[in-house]
Amino acid sequence: MSLEENIARVKENMVRAARAAGRDPAEITLVAATKVQRSDTIRRAIAAGVTVCGENRVQEMTAHLEDDAYAGAALHFIGHLQTNKVRQVVGRVDLIQSVGSEHLLDAIEAQAAKLDLVQDILLEVNIGGELSKSGVAPEAVKPLAQKAISCPHLRLRGLMAIPPVAGQPGANRPFFAKMYQLYVDIRMNLDHNGTVINCLSMGMSDDYEDAVREGATLVRVGTALFGPRPPMRQG
Ligand SMILES: *Cc1c(COP(=O)(O)O)cnc(C)c1O
Repeated sequence: MSLEENIARVKENMVRAARAAGRDPAEITLVAATKVQRSDTIRRAIAAGVTVCGENRVQEMTAHLEDDAYAGAALHFIGHLQTNKVRQVVGRVDLIQSVGSEHLLDAIEAQAAKLDLVQDILLEVNIGGELSKSGVAPEAVKPLAQKAISCPHLRLRGLMAIPPVAGQPGANRPFFAKMYQLYVDIRMNLDHNGTVINCLSMGMSDDYEDAVREGATLVRVGTALFGPRPPMRQG
């Protein structure tokens, strides 16, 4: 199947999953996870209806930005972000989805203050409690969200999660449901200073339909659009 056909099919599946769950399909956006793809491929995806690109690696992203590969789409940073690379990301992307520690939050606030801009962010939650994964523990989400909201150069837009690798179809649904609860909780119980918290980013190629059923507003899909990635450069 071609990239164009894959994009159309994934979008159809998202619409179907949304309707089946009684949700408005317009609330849910496909984020194309473009890691390891070439600039030409990214341009093709955008021409075929991708409206948001998600990048993992600062170096690749910088090269694509120099190429103007994302023209016509929004750009999200979705990968692990080291504090020493914050300078290369803040102000260059529409949303940093992967803010998984207070240390990183502070670094982004400092850089945004330096540039005199407001950076949209999501807090990344380690919903599976995996030692190997970055992200805020579920019980630490609320205090960190409160802090994010008090930072003048950050705009907290919601939450993101990468659940454990699922052994079988449906295995991640309980994690998605837990994420939805956390999301509703910060939406309802924090003083937002007028900020709209409307982003819940979860679901990838194998489970984006389940994520939509459980309340995702952003799904991050790579393989189902672009095909398998070369094993050495996965991540
Ligand atoms: C690569 C990646 C995805 C997409 O993964 P697929 O399984 O290829 O759909 C989603 N989110 C993040 C953070 C990623 O790094």
